[in-house]
Amino acid sequence: MDHPRRNFLQKLVASAAVVPLLSPYRALAQADRASTGSHQGKTLRVALMGLGSYAARVAEAMQSCKRAKVAGLISGTPSKLQEWGTKFGVPEKNRYDYENFDRIKNDPDIDAVYIITPNALHRDQAIRVAKAGKHVICEKPMAVNAKEGQDMVDACADAGVKLLVGYRMHFEPKTLEVIRMRKAGDFGSISFFQGLCGFRIGDPDQWRLNKALAGGGSLMDIGIYAINGARYMVGEDPVWVTAQQTKTDPVKFKEGVDETIQFQLGFPSGAVASCLSTYQMNHLDRFFMTGEQGFAELQPATGYGPIEGRTHKGELTQPHAMHQTIQMDEMAGILLDGNTPVVPVDGEEGLKDLKIIDAIYAACGTGRKQELRLG
Ligand code: NAD
Repeated sequence: MDHPRRNFLQKLVASAAVVPLLSPYRALAQADRASTGSHQGKTLRVALMGLGSYAARVAEAMQSCKRAKVAGLISGTPSKLQEWGTKFGVPEKNRYDYENFDRIKNDPDIDAVYIITPNALHRDQAIRVAKAGKHVICEKPMAVNAKEGQDMVDACADAGVKLLVGYRMHFEPKTLEVIRMRKAGDFGSISFFQGLCGFRIGDPDQWRLNKALAGGGSLMDIGIYAINGARYMVGEDPVWVTAQQTKTDPVKFKEGVDETIQFQLGFPSGAVASCLSTYQMNHLDRFFMTGEQGFAELQPATGYGPIEGRTHKGELTQPHAMHQTIQMDEMAGILLDGNTPVVPVDGEEGLKDLKIIDAIYAACGTGRKQELRLG
């Protein structure tokens, strides 16, 4: 999702302002730490794999982290290793390429590897990182289908390391406030969610439009926000999905690369969701949810921010903070202290979205409703 959102490049707020934003989770994290009394001061040392545009954003944001730092780099481009190494203070001995990064096993300076490469590479890279005994943080989509996602979950379990997915919205303050209100019953029972996610993609030669690297099209990249958002906003996992695909430009969007998909989800409570994922329309970044007693609206809902939103009770006023800064500090708490986030970011969570993606593609192909068993 590297696209016009760059235009929203947020003001980096002073890290001191970040603390009060996190009240629901922070309180939980502090309670956990108090109860276990563990690692309060430890810093998560992260190696970034794939030094592209999103990794650059993560690396910059991590400069404001309290508990996480860039401690290693993995890239196939020696000049990037040199440049990033100098910029972020990563010594040469903690710089690797795609051939030799298994050696990270013997690197005592690295706790976790954050995989920020094209989607289809995530599975094999995650398995190698797990075998090297390091925690895996992997960008979304965690893999290109549920089978590959399951391989990653299994490999991390076998190696005794944790697997987290870069779901930055799970730590975003306005999003967390809507979730808090829903849990408190402020909306009553939820009846409907709408998720609109899309942008008009540019360069036809980029990996995002190459099935072999992207695993699909808009659904993998941007539609996944509506899938994941439907689940954390409604607070349930869907039990069925229907979907329809439209393609206006079959040259740009080749076989297996979706341009626009509309899909509908049904939840056990009877709530339904209606979502749109597209690479062909601009200004689509909106969540709307309604229940018996109220509503919530986020627009933009998943961009880099500031997220804006309101409910039937008024505007959401939680101040903006850089998503990737909060995410990495909270992930440090999860990996080092065993903290539990309000919305999961583990491999099982990533796997649920991949099962839904598989089912959406199956529904597009067959025209039939797909039952979901997310476990
Ligand atoms: P990008 O093209 O800017 O960067 C990809 C990096 O991977 C490049 O440095 C490239 O050199 C490297 N790479 C390694 N092997 C490669 C290969 N075989 N082919 C092509 N590139 C290869 O892409 P990006 O926007 O940084 O996206 C990377 C990942 O991050 C994707 O999974 C994407 O979905 C995810 N992402 C997440 C967010 C978010 O908000 N969470 C935003 C943007 C991207």
